[in-house]
Amino acid sequence: MSRDTIAAVSTPVGEGGISIVRLSGEDAVKIAERVFRGASLRSLDEAPSHTIHYGYAVDGDRRIDEVLVSLMRAPRTYTREDVVEINCHGGAVAAREVLDAVLRAGGRLAERGEFTERAFTNGRISLDQAKAVLDVVQAKTGLGLEAAVDRLGGRFARQIEELRHTLADLLAELEVEIDYPDLDVDCAAVQPRIEALHAKTAELLGKSEQGRLIREGMTIAIVGRPNVGKSTLLNALLSEPRAIVTPIPGTTRDTVEEEAALAGIPVRWIDTAGLREPGDPVETEGVRRTLHAVDRADLVLLVLDRSDGLTAEDRDLLEREWQLPVVLVENKIDLESGALDLPAGTWIARNGISAERGDGLAALTDRLIELLTHGEVPTRNSVLLLDSWERDLLRRMADGLERAGHAMAGGHAPDIVAEEIRAAYRTAGELQGIDVSESILDAIFSRFCIGK
Ligand code: GDP
Repeated sequence: MSRDTIAAVSTPVGEGGISIVRLSGEDAVKIAERVFRGASLRSLDEAPSHTIHYGYAVDGDRRIDEVLVSLMRAPRTYTREDVVEINCHGGAVAAREVLDAVLRAGGRLAERGEFTERAFTNGRISLDQAKAVLDVVQAKTGLGLEAAVDRLGGRFARQIEELRHTLADLLAELEVEIDYPDLDVDCAAVQPRIEALHAKTAELLGKSEQGRLIREGMTIAIVGRPNVGKSTLLNALLSEPRAIVTPIPGTTRDTVEEEAALAGIPVRWIDTAGLREPGDPVETEGVRRTLHAVDRADLVLLVLDRSDGLTAEDRDLLEREWQLPVVLVENKIDLESGALDLPAGTWIARNGISAERGDGLAALTDRLIELLTHGEVPTRNSVLLLDSWERDLLRRMADGLERAGHAMAGGHAPDIVAEEIRAAYRTAGELQGIDVSESILDAIFSRFCIGK
């Protein structure tokens, strides 16, 4: 296959130990040759595949940087094309200049995800694996990374392949029954097989729901009037003093957002300014932002100060009609106080804590995990990373198989059952990346960064 040679900086922008300029394509070696002066090598072209060479990246007679060049000839490369990686020093300038030199020497700047797209079109990885690469790159937690690497290994692809095979067998039998009704295919045996297929599909769908949690994460808003201990709680939950803790009411006029994982789920924590009636203009803006922040949240932690009793503001918050689950947190249980006399409200859990001393925090965290995951805490084996398009296909398969099962049980004609099975078979093919349209491919690869 003759395709032009693409190039990009494949490491993130910014200061770091090394930056890598990657080239892939028929002329990768020839182009690299034009910008490289090897210390002990006459020509890259003569070097064996999968070797590393020391020297200088040059622009004409000017030395740009001291580099190491990795040479990998097709087909044993990421893209199955000739690949050259120029390792320069880290930092924004060296890699940028080397890339510019490569582009002047005949390379073309790669588009987003184009390396991975080539790996896919050249048959080195499946579409499923290409997406897993993206998940590996974008993983936010250790668990997210494990699940992505798992998918990269092809487990999901194998499961779908198996499902598709079983569907094909089933379909063949049903078609025999339709064409030769006299042969008497054993329908009683078909029923449990359809049910097993449905159960398997539903199981994958359930795992993908957990995968959604891991991929997209959750947002938790911490609300309460000033001084009840919201920032202290946030800091305790993050176990790092990052939000400013201050005893002056109303200083937290804006929201503070932090990301920290909970049981492998990436959680964005929003410490809000409280919902006090607006006083000065700055605070009005804070209140507006607070409401906006709560809008985006999946759950609200409503914090009260137990040592201080309930104020009108607390009551407002308690009686507000939240459109999302509310967990009540009674803070400062370390101080002398009586029990709070709470008005009727819609919270789903109530926890006493001391944010400052850490009392009750573990129980609160457990409760949150339980609520966010509906009691099913994600583990490596219970998580499947799929995008919304794939989840939708899987859901269609599950629904279709359920209908097929009902049709079978209801004694419907075999062609009705066969129609559902055929549709499920086609959907499984789509999930495998068979007959996927160009526009879907473009949408997938455009989510990558340049250089991947
Ligand atoms: P925010 O305005 O709601 O964010 O409240 P802060 O987190 O700034 O806390 C207000 C004050 O309450 C600070 O002086 C904290 O040290 C104190 N505080 C927070 N949590 C506790 C707690 O559990 N016990 C006690 N005794 N004091 C606390």
